[in-house]
Amino acid sequence: MTFVLFADTRLALARDALAGLSVGDALGSQFFVPGRHPADLAAGRLPPAPWSWTDDTEMACSVVAELAGAGEIDRDRLARAFAERCEPYRGYGPGAVTILRLIRTGTPWPVAAASAFDGQGSCGNGAAMRVGPLGAYFADSPARAATQARASAEVTHGHPEGITGAVAVAVAAALAARARLAGERPAPARLLAAVAATLDPATEVHHGVRRAAGLLGRPLAEVVDALGNGSRVVAQDTVPFTLWAAATHLDDYPAAVRACVEAGGDVDTTAAIVGAVVAAHTGVGTPGGVPTAWLAAREALPAWAG
Ligand SMILES: [Mg+2]
Repeated sequence: MTFVLFADTRLALARDALAGLSVGDALGSQFFVPGRHPADLAAGRLPPAPWSWTDDTEMACSVVAELAGAGEIDRDRLARAFAERCEPYRGYGPGAVTILRLIRTGTPWPVAAASAFDGQGSCGNGAAMRVGPLGAYFADSPARAATQARASAEVTHGHPEGITGAVAVAVAAALAARARLAGERPAPARLLAAVAATLDPATEVHHGVRRAAGLLGRPLAEVVDALGNGSRVVAQDTVPFTLWAAATHLDDYPAAVRACVEAGGDVDTTAAIVGAVVAAHTGVGTPGGVPTAWLAAREALPAWAG
């Protein structure tokens, strides 16, 4: 299927994905507060509002602002935006704070990104956590979503796993949004196979997405055992699980986020990734979409996010 997407349609898809990402992030992070239990969410009891968003949302807002302004990623400008808008108390990891501080004080991003982890570059899940809306924006071209995701990742993540994790999430979001425009619900196995086909086969992320396809229909605990839940905060133990959850619950946003909360681990980030991919497909306030009550409970997005 080929089609032309007008700029306002692209942006609407990206904003739906951002709504899903930010609500997932903000709700997911509530479960790091002592006394909060996944069973409450499963029973329909929501944490008291407001739900503060974290680094996942702050960086995703910069990605969307860049697309709204320029229609594509300019790596120099995106690196500056990440660095200047970083509020460390939002839960950034120490590696991210260091890279963004280097960029803010004048170190070129290729040097700053390469400096992480003894020169190997970061394979953290930070490039994947912020990229879902970008994928939705390029719903007409998963290939363009992949190249733009790579560009958005490189400014902070030099390691092939960190970059491939972002490509995987963006392609999944592009395919999810594309299916929405076509009025289809892609079969989970077909969605995961299509994502895996775009990834560097030498990476663990690629192997993980293939394994995720083999675990469709299996119980959540078994899936977490096999794929991880982000507790190592690297792309390899975050992205395969999130794509399993998104493919499984693609037409049911609340169920998708509940699965992330129940899985434990890096819940704000897994729920942000899954939330972005699923909301690219469902939208907001629709049957199976991001519930408007959840959106209302989320802390308002920054004014510069538009
Ligand atoms: Mg976070």
